[in-house]
Amino acid sequence: MYLHCPNCTSAATVEILYGYPGADLEERARHGLVALGGCVIGESEPTHRCLECSHQWLRPFLNPNHLTQDILCMLDDLETANTTAANQIENLFLSSGRGNAEHIPVELVDVFAEIHHAWANFSSLLHDFGETVQVYDDSGRVINEFATADAFDVMQKQLGQLYGLLGALANASLQLGQASKAGGVDEIKTASALVQEARARLNERRKQARALVIDAANL
Ligand SMILES: [Zn+2]
Repeated sequence: MYLHCPNCTSAATVEILYGYPGADLEERARHGLVALGGCVIGESEPTHRCLECSHQWLRPFLNPNHLTQDILCMLDDLETANTTAANQIENLFLSSGRGNAEHIPVELVDVFAEIHHAWANFSSLLHDFGETVQVYDDSGRVINEFATADAFDVMQKQLGQLYGLLGALANASLQLGQASKAGGVDEIKTASALVQEARARLNERRKQARALVIDAANL
């Protein structure tokens, strides 16, 4: 709910309201709930003030929902969930390969449920942006803007890619598990290189997703 100050990271920040303040607004300002910015508002006037360090900054919003939403923050949460899932898949298939490779790890169902949950959550938050998603840098400046509908299309493709890469990781991990149980040094080296490659490609996809959000030209 709180916007952190880009200068000192304090959460003690208030919105600056412009225009002639009525008695009610003056009362709220006295209690430190809002800051009054004066009667004239220009496009570059600051929108927020920090009560700790008095820093003021501009953060334009399309609607009040944006007060709690930051697309890069959302993406970080999503990618953290994806990385956790990839690590779980790697471990599950590695141990499956070392043990009985015919046995499908049942925990896999939970891993995919978690992935689905994280993407559904991201998707639901994306809806709240309305027609346009704006991307801000740390000081609240808009650094990118794109149609929400385009973002949904990109998300679908990204999810398809993610599943493909997770499949490759599962396969490589299974091979590595089998090689480490019964294979020679060469087989272990080959399978190990496959796991490294699958990890690198997952990492690359994550970087691409972030680049897409920061630079709309890639959308
Ligand atoms: Zn501050």
